Amino acid sequence: MIEYQEALQVLRSFSSEPETEIIDLENAVGRTLSTHLMANETSPPFDNSAMDGYLVRSSATASATSSNPVLLPVKKCLGAGDTSNEYFDCNSALEIMTGAPIPASDHDCVIKIEDVAEIIRNSSDGTTHILLTKPFFSGANIRRAGEDFQSGQVLFQTGQTIELSHLLVLATLGISQLSVVRMPKVGLISTGKELVSHSVAKLGPGQIRNSTGLYLKKSLEALHHPVIDCGNVADDPDLFLNHVKNCLNSGAQLVLSTGAVSMGRYDFVKSSLERMGAQIHFHKCAIRPGKPILFASTMWEDRRVFFFGMPGNPISTAVGFRFFVRPFLDHIVGRSGSNATKTDSQYTKAKLANDFKKPEGYRCFFKAHGRTLDSGEQVVEPLTGQASFMVSPLLKANSWVVFNESDNVAKAGSIVEVCKL
Ligand code: AMP
Ligand code: MG
Repeated sequence: MIEYQEALQVLRSFSSEPETEIIDLENAVGRTLSTHLMANETSPPFDNSAMDGYLVRSSATASATSSNPVLLPVKKCLGAGDTSNEYFDCNSALEIMTGAPIPASDHDCVIKIEDVAEIIRNSSDGTTHILLTKPFFSGANIRRAGEDFQSGQVLFQTGQTIELSHLLVLATLGISQLSVVRMPKVGLISTGKELVSHSVAKLGPGQIRNSTGLYLKKSLEALHHPVIDCGNVADDPDLFLNHVKNCLNSGAQLVLSTGAVSMGRYDFVKSSLERMGAQIHFHKCAIRPGKPILFASTMWEDRRVFFFGMPGNPISTAVGFRFFVRPFLDHIVGRSGSNATKTDSQYTKAKLANDFKKPEGYRCFFKAHGRTLDSGEQVVEPLTGQASFMVSPLLKANSWVVFNESDNVAKAGSIVEVCKL
């Protein structure tokens, strides 16, 4: 039996050259960039007004005081989207709206409406003048071209996950297509003749609903992996192997199974995989829950394909997925950013609220509730009901608390690691 850190090393010893694809910006959130990305435009694309107000030449306002105000005639009104190549003499003002391009004259300063002492409209000749009682500085309230982005600037490194907020950047710069990692296809197989679909209304004798099939499918889809869902194969090793092969023939790079990976009479996953020539890299890891987890690989056609066999209890499966499968997928696709679990920075530290018994020698991933005290201190409380079949604590849980292998009691007040659920 290996320890968790050794298991992670085994997972990270495999790499694959990720395939790439071009996608539209509309579909980019959550995807992983396969190249670094540069701005190919300057933004803003032109100098423009940051305010609704009046564009003037600052030098024309230099002498303005309340006892000696400056009066400037307003020559034109420029709104956002208007352009003008006219030359305006230096003692004129232009009414200008937010976003309107600054014309190519010597006018270098926008005075916001509130800072104009008086706007004098003459209804008989239709002219407007502004009265200024203080000087204004060159460049005031003008957004300069390139102040936000310079053409050629690196925006993102390879491996970055595109977040919703990044859409503002990418749309601003007209980046409408991106080269991203093609997410590996994942096959899903549930084992157990006691299982019926989660949608079955009334259970027959001895039956339970398959709760993890849907959970895994949706978890994978949230990470943009195409899923080949084989449903449930009862406890039939031949059917299991057929499904594994079908998944691989359909292009799966990874197959996940649940159940049948422990020591019982119907636990056939390991022997079935060996029968098809797969190499078992580990079977059983010193963790709780989910100890019997298995990781294997084999060559299929010309590519290496991988298997995780996770024990069937729902929390064992959830731990297997969160702490083995996800880091593995992150690793092989080179994913970083909010979707990634591969870095230790995904763990935060918190103070343990109470003494908690744990089995010595096992890394434990326990359902927990974390909160921030008024003092700003992070506190985490392992919940009651840690048995791996018990999903009711998930109604309260918002995180996993992670205890490392040493000790058989985690002491209240000690600093422990916490991970998002
Ligand atoms: P196994 O790992 O096959 O020995 O199953 C361990 C326990 O988990 C048994 O009580 C199973 O009935 C239960 N179990 C197995 N698969 C699932 C599943 N997909 N959803 C819910 N419970 C399951
Ligand atoms: Mg079973």
